[in-house]
Amino acid sequence: MKLLEVKDLKTYFTTSKGKAKAVDGVSFTLDYGQCLGLVGESGCGKTTTALSICQLLPKEGKVEGGQILLEGVDYASMTEEEIMKHRWQDVSIIFQGAMNAFNPVKKVGWQIAEACILHQNMTKEQAWERAGELFEMVGIAKERVTQYPHEFSGGMKQRAMIAMALACSPKLIIGDEPTTALDVMIQAQILELLEKLRKELNMGMILITHDLSILSETCDKIAVMYAGKIAELGTVDDIFNHPMHPYTKRLLDCFPNIHSTERVIPDGIPGYPPNLIDPPEGCRFCPRCAEAAERCSAEEPEFLQVGPQHFVSCHLCARGGEQNG
Ligand code: SF4
Repeated sequence: MKLLEVKDLKTYFTTSKGKAKAVDGVSFTLDYGQCLGLVGESGCGKTTTALSICQLLPKEGKVEGGQILLEGVDYASMTEEEIMKHRWQDVSIIFQGAMNAFNPVKKVGWQIAEACILHQNMTKEQAWERAGELFEMVGIAKERVTQYPHEFSGGMKQRAMIAMALACSPKLIIGDEPTTALDVMIQAQILELLEKLRKELNMGMILITHDLSILSETCDKIAVMYAGKIAELGTVDDIFNHPMHPYTKRLLDCFPNIHSTERVIPDGIPGYPPNLIDPPEGCRFCPRCAEAAERCSAEEPEFLQVGPQHFVSCHLCARGGEQNG
């Protein structure tokens, strides 16, 4: 059984101007111990996909269709009460800017211990013990559990956030830009730590970022999102060495090649992502695509399998592909 199967997920937000289709027909799977990277520009649906999986959407957002199967159990059809029993034990999330998420007047270790008491019915003593174990797991001396957030550096606070996310031994952990606010050295350490824990604990991981270079070292496969849909999904080799979707190719061009001796200035992708309340007919990337043909503005491309683990949503790749459900 797959750890996670997301099938045709549709998450819409109600706004005063209509429904914004923030995630519109997203499908992917994840095995135990595997890491999937979700990448794309701001507003492409990465975080909404993560919040849908955890059922932590704000009140304006709603899963309107599809399935989120975690070990075969559909999260999308659970009541809030049922979700409360599963969240943190099955899936946990490290948010963007989580370093400021600790309550400044409570000891860091206690904030982790509280999660253990609430979700795992531990006694106070057991929960403190567990907080110490988790600190050691993420490379912080367990004696520091009694310290306050202001006594921790940025990197240590992020390690402590990871410890909190691991408190109930989840099967799936989602990192939403978990290293954005950190300097490059600490960023590398945190990514290494996440990778080590994923392998040791055989957890599934979804890593969300707008920085493709982070994913090449960390992930097994990558989903490139554009305007609420997956444009291309494949292994790291598929995406970096054999990209097929015009958007993936342009995204890769935005990152300078450190192995190249040529001086190339990345020129970005002209135009802006579409308004998701009224997205364009046909392919959503069409208004920005240099390879667009007449068909592209009229007909939405199917999500086709073009390799063993490689899927692309583009009319250019339609020949010879198989449709993926
Ligand atoms: Fe470009 Fe057409 Fe492919 Fe869309 S379907 S990415 S517009 S070539």
